[in-house]
Amino acid sequence: MAIDFTLTDNQRDLQKAAKDFADGVLGPIAARIDRAADGWESFLAGREAYREMAHAGFTKSFIPIEHGGVGFSMLDLALAAEELTRVDVSVPTTLLASGLGLQPVIQYGTPEQKERLLRPFADDTEGDLLASYAFTDVAGGANFDSPDPAGGIQTLARRDGDDWVITGQKHYTTNGTGWDKQGCHLYTVVCRTDPAAGAGDALAVIAVPGTAAGITVADVYDKIGHRGVVTPRVDFDEVRVPAANVIGQPGKSGKQVVAGAFSWTAALIGAACVGTMRAAFEYALDFSRTEKRLGTVPVIEHQNVGFMLADIKMRIEACRYLTWKACHDFERTAGRAQELAIMTKVYCSEAAVSTIYDCMRVVGIASYTKDLAPLERIMRDAMVFPLYDGGNQGVRRRQLHDLIRQPGYDPMLAARGDIPPAE
Ligand SMILES: Cc1cc2nc3c(=O)[nH]c(=O)nc-3n(C[C@H](O)[C@H](O)[C@H](O)COP(=O)(O)OP(=O)(O)OC[C@H]3O[C@@H](n4cnc5c(N)ncnc54)[C@H](O)[C@@H]3O)c2cc1C
Repeated sequence: MAIDFTLTDNQRDLQKAAKDFADGVLGPIAARIDRAADGWESFLAGREAYREMAHAGFTKSFIPIEHGGVGFSMLDLALAAEELTRVDVSVPTTLLASGLGLQPVIQYGTPEQKERLLRPFADDTEGDLLASYAFTDVAGGANFDSPDPAGGIQTLARRDGDDWVITGQKHYTTNGTGWDKQGCHLYTVVCRTDPAAGAGDALAVIAVPGTAAGITVADVYDKIGHRGVVTPRVDFDEVRVPAANVIGQPGKSGKQVVAGAFSWTAALIGAACVGTMRAAFEYALDFSRTEKRLGTVPVIEHQNVGFMLADIKMRIEACRYLTWKACHDFERTAGRAQELAIMTKVYCSEAAVSTIYDCMRVVGIASYTKDLAPLERIMRDAMVFPLYDGGNQGVRRRQLHDLIRQPGYDPMLAARGDIPPAE
C-alpha cells in the first residue's frame, strides 16, 4: 500500500496529549492573553503556559535527538500544532518562532554549531530560553532576495579579522525580547556581507548570542491578533560575533538557508490554519445545532446553513491532508521538497480567513461581538496567516512563480514527492 494516512498509536497518543494540554493549560488563559493591555502584557500572560510546555517536552520537540532533543517528525509537529492552535495561537507560535530561529542551525549548521547552539535549548526544561529569527528589516522584508544591490536586506555584516560585525534594524523579530526585554538567548540574523553585491552573492545568516554587546530591544509592537506573540523591533549596532557563527557559506548558500527555514514554517503554518478553522467550525456547528433564533427549528435545518457547514468542513479536511503531505515530503527530502510547503502556506492561510468568515456568517451577528462568541478573536488571529512568514503576495507567490517558470519545471514533482534536482 503506497499511501496510508492512518496515524500510528504513538501519533494518536501525541494528538491526545496535545489536546489535553491545550484544553487544560491554554484554554483557561487564551482570553487573558488576547485581552491584555498591550503586546508585552499579552506575551507575559502566556509565560507560565510556556514553562509548562517545556516541562511537557514540547519545547525540544524539533531539536534532533543527537543534540538532546526529542526529534519529532514534521508530521508529529503538525499533529500537535493543530491541537494546540485550536485553543490558542500565541503560546504555540512562540514555540514555533523559536523553532524558526533554530532552523538555520538545524538544517545547515556544522556538527560543532549544532551541538554548541542547540544543546542549551534541549537542556532547558524550564522554558527560559527563546530563539529568534531576525529576518525582516525595518525597511522591508519581501525583497530580501533582490539580485540588484540597490534593494535587498540592508542589515550589514562586515568582516573584521576573525569576527563579523553586524549593524542593522530588524522588526517583528518574534521572541527577540526574551522574557525580560533584555534580548533572547539566540538570534539568527539575516544580513548581507557586501553592500555592492546582490542577495545571490552576499546574503548570510549569522548566529548571534543575545548577550553580545550592541543589541537593543527598541520597541514592542501590539497587534490586532496573535497578541501574545511578541514581535519587537531589535537594533543591532556594531554587534561582534566570531566567524565560527556563520551558518552555511555567506553568499554561496545564504538564500538556501533563508528559504529552508521559511519552508519549515510554511508547512507547519498549514496546521495552525487547520487548528483555527476547526475551532471556528466547532463553534458554528454547535451554535447551529442548538440555536433556533426565534424560528421553530435549529438553524442547521436551513439548507443554506447546512450547505455552508459542509463546504467549511470540506476545506478544513483538504487543508489538513495538504499539510500532512507537505510535512511528510519536507521531512523525507531533508527540506528540499519546498513547493508543496509553500503551497500549503498560501492555500491554507487564505482558506482559513475565508472559512472563518463563513463560520461568522453561519452564526450571524453574535459572531461580531466580543463577549458573545469567540469568532472575532479567531478571525483576528487568522488574518495574519496570509500576511506573515513571508507574505503570500510579496514572498510566497513569487517563490512559486520562480519555481514554475524554470524551464525544467516538473508539474508532477510535488505529487510524487521526489527530491528536487539541485539548483
Ligand atoms: C505574528 C508575526 C510574527 C512574525 N515573525 C517574524 C519573525 O520571527 N522574524 C521575522 O523576521 N519576521 C517576522 N514577521 C514578519 C513577516 O514574516 C513578514 O511577512 C515578512 O517579513 C514580509 O513582510 P511583507 O510581505 O509585508 O513585506 P514588505 O517588504 O513590508 O512588503 C509589503 C507589501 O508590499 C508588496 N510587495 C513588496 N515587494 C513586492 C514584490 N517584489 N512583489 C510583489 N509584491 C511586493 C506586498 O503586497 C507586500 O505584502 C512576523 C510578523 C508577524 C505579524
